[in-house]
Amino acid sequence: MSHRSRAGLNFSNDVSQSRYSDMKKQEKIPEERNVTIRQEVLRLLEYDDLTVGELSKKIGKSEKELYDHLEHLVGSKSLVIIPAECLKCGYIFEKREKVKKPGKCPQCKNTYIKQPMFTAAKPRFNRSA
Ligand SMILES: [Zn+2]
Repeated sequence: MSHRSRAGLNFSNDVSQSRYSDMKKQEKIPEERNVTIRQEVLRLLEYDDLTVGELSKKIGKSEKELYDHLEHLVGSKSLVIIPAECLKCGYIFEKREKVKKPGKCPQCKNTYIKQPMFTAAKPRFNRSA
């Protein structure tokens, strides 16, 4: 499974391009668990907007654990939150930066809240190869 998604270095002349492919061969990314989970989250969100519950099912991690990763990814602008919404009065929790589902609507006190969803910050299917 080797693809070229890490080619962010953009060398412009031929000489350094051959040097770059040498560098790539030696490159070993440490298999850090957190990074792997975040990559998995991002990969899924490139194709679908998902709630934390859906991510939890797909990845097999607890929602609690995923919240940490989601907060990190939102903080680094890799993800965007689609805000939670009150299903009764339509109040949108726009100002809410937290990734967690709000308890109740501040406007009508209703607890039927459409969960916040997450989406990749980058445009879909626009990979610069
Ligand atoms: Zn409401």
